[in-house]
Amino acid sequence: MAADSTEPQPTSVPAADGAVAGTTVEPPKKFPKGVVLGKDGKPCRSCTSFAAWASQTKSSLNTTATTTPTQPQKDCPPDVETLGRSTWTLLHSIAATYPPAPTPKEQSDLKSFMRLFSRLYPCWVCAEDFQAYMQKQEVRAGSRDEFGNWLCEAHNEVNRKLGKSTFDCAKWEERWRTGWKDGRCE
Ligand SMILES: Cc1cc2nc3c(=O)[nH]c(=O)nc-3n(C[C@H](O)[C@H](O)[C@H](O)COP(=O)(O)OP(=O)(O)OC[C@H]3O[C@@H](n4cnc5c(N)ncnc54)[C@H](O)[C@@H]3O)c2cc1C
Repeated sequence: MAADSTEPQPTSVPAADGAVAGTTVEPPKKFPKGVVLGKDGKPCRSCTSFAAWASQTKSSLNTTATTTPTQPQKDCPPDVETLGRSTWTLLHSIAATYPPAPTPKEQSDLKSFMRLFSRLYPCWVCAEDFQAYMQKQEVRAGSRDEFGNWLCEAHNEVNRKLGKSTFDCAKWEERWRTGWKDGRCE
């Protein structure tokens, strides 16, 4: 549900607090292109890139520069990219510390976590696509290697959707567990 500057968004606006059915309804608002709306019809910050977000808020006015800022402030609510980077860091770190030979309980805990994660992820458009992916590609939790590769492939699916290059999954442990062989992480 991305807003389009040429079309009024959203198509159905929730009534303002206290409004009675049948009385005057606010006209649909227009939002800049790229702003994703939440299910409540309001702009969803954690679903939207900061650049698009800043173009519709006063943050673009709160800068001494004449151009719109391109990076979110560190201590503000996350945009879709900041949230995504932090989340992938958490997920791949969970894979990195997952046991090589997990017990049945550890395997079911991981599967439950991923199922709930995919329902609770704050970017709802991301969450819905991720749930659909998990329906097609069931979480593999039989070992660290299995889960690390499953997650890498899942991340690559999102990379492809966003037009980014894919990551070589043979290297997921170097990236997230051991550090690169050239020693730069030591
Ligand atoms: C479950 C989920 C779904 C998402 N869906 C969307 C969406 O629908 N729309 C949207 O705009 N954004 C979505 N995002 C956010 C998006 O994936 C990125 O996090 C965001 O665009 C920032 O990208 P980035 O280029 O900084 O690197 P990120 O993709 O955040 O990756 C962080 C780091 O992980 C490493 N990496 C990259 N690919 C892999 C891989 N396959 N395996 C292991 N490591 C890897 C790289 O070192 C990279 O720098 C989603 C995030 C998550 C967690």
